[in-house]
Amino acid sequence: MVEVSRSQLLACDACPRLVALRGRVRSLHPDYHAAPVAPWGPKTARLLIVGLAPGMHGANRTGQPFTGDASGRFLFDSLYRAGFATAPRAENAELNGTRITNAVKCLPPGNRPLAAEIRNCSAYLTAEIGTLLGRRPRRSRVVLCLGRLAHEAVARVLPVVLNLSGPVPVPAFTHGRRTEIATHVYLVDTYHPSRQNTQTGRLTRTMLDAVLSDIRRIIDAP
Ligand code: SF4
Repeated sequence: MVEVSRSQLLACDACPRLVALRGRVRSLHPDYHAAPVAPWGPKTARLLIVGLAPGMHGANRTGQPFTGDASGRFLFDSLYRAGFATAPRAENAELNGTRITNAVKCLPPGNRPLAAEIRNCSAYLTAEIGTLLGRRPRRSRVVLCLGRLAHEAVARVLPVVLNLSGPVPVPAFTHGRRTEIATHVYLVDTYHPSRQNTQTGRLTRTMLDAVLSDIRRIIDAP
């Protein structure tokens, strides 16, 4: 699996609609990152968290996934409690054995990437999951999907990552479900920590804590 450098990612212009939006955002907010957002966290991590795409005033502003907005605050609160981050606020935290990325690296209009944009960006996600799986094969590793679209983006690239000729039988997105997709490799689902989900009670802190506790058990298993 070919690893992609940060500079290669930053130069990507494969999605004309998103490249145009990056330009518009940059002229409105010259201090915003407004470019592809690279993964954050050590490449040796055994937990890879996959969101959908950068938020306008979150990662699209800061250049770091899940920082600077309400989704990031909700996620980091739970990551901290489960020992995957060193502080409850992303701005002050280091990630602990954890890496965070998005299926789509550029801000999409209305938080809704097109299917073609998810496809265009899948080579990066493939490389990131490949990195996770290539490390420490005797220890458990986890891909945590934040929401259905992230789950589907991950499921789509698994045959390439696992070097299989056919699709990998991955059950449909279900909050809290864990699936062993290869030996010692688990796919876990949670609702996305978006305001839409957290303010309506679809995703509570207790629910996200339970998912992360389950992942902690997987990661800590001998
Ligand atoms: S979304 Fe991904 S593939 Fe599309 S321009 Fe951004 S980095 Fe490139």
